[in-house]
Amino acid sequence: MEFDFPPFRPPSEAGSYLIRVVRGCYWNRCAFCGMYKDVKFCIRKKEEILRDIDNLPKYFPRSKTAFLADSDPLVHKDIVEIVKYLNEKYELERITSYTRIKTICRMPEEKLEELKEAGLKRIHVGLESGDREVLELIQKGIIPEEAVKAGRKARKYFEVTYYVITGLGGVERSEKHAKNTAKVINDAKPTFVRVRNLTVLPNAPISKMIGKEITLLNAKQQLEELRSLIENINSETYLTCDHVSNYLFSKNGPIFFGVSGFLPDEKDEMLEEIDLAIKNVELMEKSGEKVLTSNDMYKLGLITL
Ligand code: SF4
Repeated sequence: MEFDFPPFRPPSEAGSYLIRVVRGCYWNRCAFCGMYKDVKFCIRKKEEILRDIDNLPKYFPRSKTAFLADSDPLVHKDIVEIVKYLNEKYELERITSYTRIKTICRMPEEKLEELKEAGLKRIHVGLESGDREVLELIQKGIIPEEAVKAGRKARKYFEVTYYVITGLGGVERSEKHAKNTAKVINDAKPTFVRVRNLTVLPNAPISKMIGKEITLLNAKQQLEELRSLIENINSETYLTCDHVSNYLFSKNGPIFFGVSGFLPDEKDEMLEEIDLAIKNVELMEKSGEKVLTSNDMYKLGLITL
């Protein structure tokens, strides 16, 4: 293979150079995740990665940003050298990497400083939930205290995105999931919070838990959980629902696109937008029209993730 393309990147990295530092995920146990279930984890040889970096302009339009994949490039023993090489080779405004909360917790501060000096600017991390029971249920392999520790530690060096999944605890744990997730965000203070709504992929272990341990949220419950999450965030962060999984649909198309804004300054406007969406859902359902969530749309083959 001439160039090893990573199979996944966040929407915010759509225009970035993509560099595959590791293949797959060594953890690979999160119940909601189907991303790397068929990929054998391996750490790529440094020489291959540097060769891919040399060849980036052949495969991508000129870019000012670069993204490191797959699940956790920061575990590569030569990651500082790789980031430095990339940063010196191209004029980049930002280098971003996926990583895990455990990795940040374990990493010495000197290594984080070296990564910053080498050019790493932003990390994307899966928090998913700040609720202990939900984290355990979905086998995230972390506890809320580690999520707080990692966020505080990483923010000294990088911009930090925490991903959150609404609906992850099901109807059963919705309120606790929202409140405890907001609590972790308030303590960890990530720069960005990116919300996804739980959409069940057939190859993800969570598909076997639906209807047993986890009851999927309907449209109104999804909005109420998002509302509670935002209402309870008091720290400064930019929250965005920048993914189709947050959308709600009528038979004629999307009726809700999620919300985005700076918290706490734009909280009232965001909550008003959600309240309006809740009213719309109630009206539509009263008139007999079902509002479709990302799960409904995915099952119907009307959206891809
Ligand atoms: S969510 Fe991240 S850590 Fe969990 S299995 Fe998927 S890639 Fe691995």
